[in-house]
Amino acid sequence: MRTSELQAADKQHLWHPFTQMRDWCAPGSDPLVLSGGRGSVLIDSDGREYLDGNSSIWTNIHGHSHPKIIAAIRAQAGKLAHSSFLGTTNEPAIRLAEKLVALFPRETLTRVFYSDDGSTAIEVALKMAVQFHQLTGHPERCRFAAFDHAYHGDTAGAASLGGIAAFQDRFAPLSFPVARVADMAALNALDAVTKAPLAGIVIEPMIQGAGGMRTWPPGLLRDLRAWCDREGVFLLLDEVMTGFGRTGKMFACEHEGVVPDFIALAKGLSGGTMPLAATLTKEKVFQAFLGDYAEMKTLFYGHSYCGNPLGCAAALANLEVFEEEGTLEQLQPKIAHLTELLAELGTEPNVSAIRQCGFIAGIDVAGSDGTPFPWQDETGARICMAARRHGLLTRPIRDTLVLMPPLCFTGPELDRSVAALRAGIREICGGN
Ligand SMILES: *Cc1c(COP(=O)(O)O)cnc(C)c1O
Repeated sequence: MRTSELQAADKQHLWHPFTQMRDWCAPGSDPLVLSGGRGSVLIDSDGREYLDGNSSIWTNIHGHSHPKIIAAIRAQAGKLAHSSFLGTTNEPAIRLAEKLVALFPRETLTRVFYSDDGSTAIEVALKMAVQFHQLTGHPERCRFAAFDHAYHGDTAGAASLGGIAAFQDRFAPLSFPVARVADMAALNALDAVTKAPLAGIVIEPMIQGAGGMRTWPPGLLRDLRAWCDREGVFLLLDEVMTGFGRTGKMFACEHEGVVPDFIALAKGLSGGTMPLAATLTKEKVFQAFLGDYAEMKTLFYGHSYCGNPLGCAAALANLEVFEEEGTLEQLQPKIAHLTELLAELGTEPNVSAIRQCGFIAGIDVAGSDGTPFPWQDETGARICMAARRHGLLTRPIRDTLVLMPPLCFTGPELDRSVAALRAGIREICGGN
């Protein structure tokens, strides 16, 4: 089909996520149809190339069509694409679990539960935490604490934890109550009545993503771990965005030497190729669910595609690429290069703040006197559309531009990305 036919059919039948569909379907709008990917680059249906500046919504790790990952998916597809994880098991899922557990300090996170998305990885952790407390004599511990500006996914349970009003308010009637805190000071100030029913607290470690690429103060994660230990509350880390090298270490929690009670992994787990998620937890949690069948301690939770062999094969290959290519070592000088480029970009009159955590950057744009643009103007989105014409694909969070490239980006590709953002900022804001 030609691009125009594809666009017309899309506009007729599809409903895209987080998208005002009236704008999408409007006569002047030409949705970008992507048809190929190679390394750092995405290719549209007319053969134009773009640098993938947000790793295809924070998923891609080693670049598109990495030969090793593609070969693993092909080989697995030729053997077994899917089988049930309820009552049977499969080799890629078993081998991946071994590999994942080995990425954490010995005898800490020893159990792996598979699902499909970041949201479901969070749902699993919530249900495990609540049921654990029921099984160990604390049925009152059935609530959670979460942070302002947090994002943990869009299914109803994960969304209840979220702290972004625009996503949240409309669905308040189907959300469960959450103890919402801004920072450690607020957490320390919680009264006994609020703390007593807490099963756990959930956080995006080091940096909050969808909330606007907001970095946490150094030491917060370590302090949070200590608070959880003191209060008997589980620490749930949402590393759906930060996992798999994005922050410069394999997992963000390594920056502060913290091991959580639960960790949710998704987006980058399969290298950005297949929907796959994993929730890891401790042996202590797992043990509490063991008993006679009639005791009803079983975790009654699962999805049709749990332990999907294709996804697990892709994830195994993803981890092998980290080892074979020395991805994390290669990344360190590129992080330093990005820091330099961002410092230069920060001199633009319309850049009001920049936050970086490893290979993740959030760039705030505002009027040259620092006044925020009215959010209804969609300045960030217009800048990203302009940057697209300069060969960079990314998506803002309101007026925070996001640069979160695959870890395979080279120095010159970083240069071109930041140049495209600069050009976009100048075109749209023009120093105003
Ligand atoms: C994307 C994201 C999620 C949700 O993952 P999905 O795969 O979109 O369901 C959860 N937490 C964080 C931190 C995320 O960035």
